[in-house]
Amino acid sequence: MLTLHQDDVLLDCHASDWRDALDQAAASLAEAGRATPDYRQGLHDREAQSSTYLGNAIAIPHGTPASRDQVLSTGVRVLQFPQGVEWHDGNRVHVLVTIAAQSDEHLDILRALTHVLDREGVPERLAKAGTRADVIAELSKAPVVARVDIDTLCLNFPAKDRFELALAGAARLRQAGCVNAEFVTAIVEQEPVALGQGLWLASSAQGVATPALSLATPEAAFIGPKGAVNGVFCLAAQGEAHLGLLERIAELLDSGDGEALTDADAATVLARLAGESASAETVRVRVLNAHGLHARPAKQLVQVARNQGMPIKVRLLEGGAETVSAASLTKVIGLGARRGQTLVFSAEGDGAVEALQAMVEAVRGGLGEKVTPLDERSEIEEYRPAPVELEPLDADTPHPAVPAAPGLAIGTVFVMRTPRFEYPERARDLDGTRGGDASAQKARLGHALQAAAEQLEALIRRAQGGEVAEILSMHEEMLEDPELRESAHEGIDEGLSAEAAWWRSVDTAARAQEMLADRLLAERAADLRDVGRRVLGILCGVELPTPPDTPYILVMDDIGPSDVARLDTAKVRGLLTARGGATSHSAILARALGIPAVVGAGERIMTLTDGTELILDGERGRVIPAPTRERLDRAELRLKEHEARQKAAYAARFDEGRTRDGHRVEVAANLGNTAHAADAVEYGAEGVGLLRTEFVFMAHADAPNLDTQIAEYREAIDALGGRPLVARTLDVGGDKPLPYWPLPQEDNPFLGLRGIRLALTRPDILETQLRALLIAAGDKPLRIMLPMVKDIGEFRAAKAILDRLQREIQAPDVQLGVMIEIPSCALLAPSLAEEVDFFSIGTNDLTQYTLAIDRGHPELSAQSDGLHPAVLRLIQMTVIAAHAKGKWVGVCGELASDAQAVPVLVGLGVDELSVSLRQVPMVKARLREFDLSEARRQAELALGQATAEAVREALEAL
Ligand code: PEP
Ligand code: MG
Repeated sequence: MLTLHQDDVLLDCHASDWRDALDQAAASLAEAGRATPDYRQGLHDREAQSSTYLGNAIAIPHGTPASRDQVLSTGVRVLQFPQGVEWHDGNRVHVLVTIAAQSDEHLDILRALTHVLDREGVPERLAKAGTRADVIAELSKAPVVARVDIDTLCLNFPAKDRFELALAGAARLRQAGCVNAEFVTAIVEQEPVALGQGLWLASSAQGVATPALSLATPEAAFIGPKGAVNGVFCLAAQGEAHLGLLERIAELLDSGDGEALTDADAATVLARLAGESASAETVRVRVLNAHGLHARPAKQLVQVARNQGMPIKVRLLEGGAETVSAASLTKVIGLGARRGQTLVFSAEGDGAVEALQAMVEAVRGGLGEKVTPLDERSEIEEYRPAPVELEPLDADTPHPAVPAAPGLAIGTVFVMRTPRFEYPERARDLDGTRGGDASAQKARLGHALQAAAEQLEALIRRAQGGEVAEILSMHEEMLEDPELRESAHEGIDEGLSAEAAWWRSVDTAARAQEMLADRLLAERAADLRDVGRRVLGILCGVELPTPPDTPYILVMDDIGPSDVARLDTAKVRGLLTARGGATSHSAILARALGIPAVVGAGERIMTLTDGTELILDGERGRVIPAPTRERLDRAELRLKEHEARQKAAYAARFDEGRTRDGHRVEVAANLGNTAHAADAVEYGAEGVGLLRTEFVFMAHADAPNLDTQIAEYREAIDALGGRPLVARTLDVGGDKPLPYWPLPQEDNPFLGLRGIRLALTRPDILETQLRALLIAAGDKPLRIMLPMVKDIGEFRAAKAILDRLQREIQAPDVQLGVMIEIPSCALLAPSLAEEVDFFSIGTNDLTQYTLAIDRGHPELSAQSDGLHPAVLRLIQMTVIAAHAKGKWVGVCGELASDAQAVPVLVGLGVDELSVSLRQVPMVKARLREFDLSEARRQAELALGQATAEAVREALEAL
């Protein structure tokens, strides 16, 4: 974007006349290397066509289109004439903003300047300005205007009260990048105030990055305890930026149109907030001029508007800007309309239709310029915000992100960009062949849903079982969701096209999911949108992008599970996403498929171009684009070594876990699905060190009964063929609610009712689970452990139930242990070790609670490193306490499979490592690389460091 800069200002210029001033401006551009000396002729030719005088003693000379070849690089030169220059149209000029532009970049400057035109006293101040900074300050003080557009609105939200609506609006503003969590908290803590006509306002200036307004409307207006609720405005206030919007809301209420917002679609809401009256006639027309509505065509437009003999208003459809008078030149230029953007003209009263028609014809006629039509596709209305320009990633520089699946990948990237779906909002705007009536739209949607289901069926067959097939089946179920279809049908009945109605329905449901406190459930919103896009693609006839035939690293904004399924995963060497956390479905899939993955890398990765070489390090969580030959060679060597190690490790996977000198460390597998126990054995697991039984519960619509649970656990126990199984009792609650176990809303779910605390509030559920485990195990080696224990009290309460059940069913003795996930438990390990049979350290949660970093936080989770010396000290305390009482200690968090951490954990005395099943061979191989004495030295070294980075550096330096 072209901006005014002090270096471009020439103070104290003097000219004999306007021609001389123009020559000086041309010379200045040539001197600055912006244009050739011949550009001078272009400036004169342009001035001969019509004056470039703008107002307030400012002229904006620029070349003709024919002289663009003389522009060397787009730029401006600002010449100040303190004594003024008589311009050829009779005006007096104090400042020339001379533009050398290759395309329409200069429109941004023009737009900024139009604001200067509204101010008083500008000519005097420009004449007197003594410094370059003064001139720039005078010219560029464009008022900041609060943002309101399709992305800040939250319509038809399934909320039950105005607080929820306020929160939905705040969440929307957060998603749009206008505010942070502080703002959301501030909104949550306040009561929306009544504006009248069922509208409410919640506002805060805390945590506001960009001033903006959201309107959240309910699915259907309702009466709350304090009156009708038609919608809640959520305002992110900053300075005076929002004042204009508030004024327009006040006008809207004055005119009595407030209530109608509750049923309005996005376009209507934006129109009302832009100041367009509900009773006005409107027309839309797209700007055809190559360089947008710059001064000359704007002048023509203003002329046509003035000739209509009635007030004509105009606004830009894109961006939700204010409606302005079409008879005001500065306001019209101030719209900054570019080619392809849509002008919305409005007028009221007799003759309005004819007047608006005249405006449309004038704009279509080019407003005095020769214009070419837009291509067919882009003729379709869009409500998209202007794209934000992203800085490309630096070449050969590590770009940090969240590690999601281990491994190193080197390859060229294939950037999968979300396809653009273009479609009319209203059914009546569809062409005749598609049919504009509701039944035709519903039929179209029905066919598309059918076709999408068939596509999914085919993909499920291709996936041949496994997690991919499971997720695709879930997508199929989502397609069949009657609520999605019904809400889309409602949209169609309101006049929407099948596409718009379907997407509104999907987007609303996805947003509702995103608001859930449970991260896992919230991430299912991505699945919903994924399904939604599949149907939209069929409706719009848009092919989803196809990847190359050669191996590649897949780059996407957020990888939808079915994207992964559609791809030939044999060719995908690595996955890189701009969004998502380590628990997103794409990350889970990547781990399941053994593909190295880095997620949450930020939008800048979308600037990568197809074919760019990339090193992706799924262990450290970083990518390096366009690496130098030297770095690439090093990485290739690492990769080769890694592959060779992996092969050798797999070949030796059935060996017992031992260090080089024979010290025994059991290597077990973590499972979420009892059906994978056989795979764990196949990967060499010496048992299951952690069965996350909550997944058994989550897989059912109601709490699984005793028999169902027995069958599930038996499947795993039988597949293990006598190897031990450590089953963790139900670890839900707080951030992981079960749909059939309603819990009160908590401010801090991670510090709330979860794990064993929750289980003890429903001893019946805990009892059934313990009974099922004991019955399923019979005399096979079963160990039971309790999650989120904070001290011996909770252990004793659970043990009392277990002891009673054992007596009742006369089950053989089983070991009962606790997870060390809360620092208090590590600190109190000596008292626990007296009574428990074993400890299993959950480093994921232990790190989270020790460092006070949310383990799934998109920005902070990279710092949540289990090799932090504070975490290591807690592990050390646990092991010392356990061994003093002859008890064993395992580690079942992600740290157990971290190659750097393995010797440290062994050196600290850990007896068992439990890792995801694919990691089992590599962890065993890692053990064979060092002696116990070496491991102890490494543990000593690590404990003596002050930070996690220092630990990693010290270990790397060995
Ligand atoms: C842990 O917290 O380290 C752990 C293994 O439990 P989960 O990841 O299931 O919370
Ligand atoms: Mg845990």
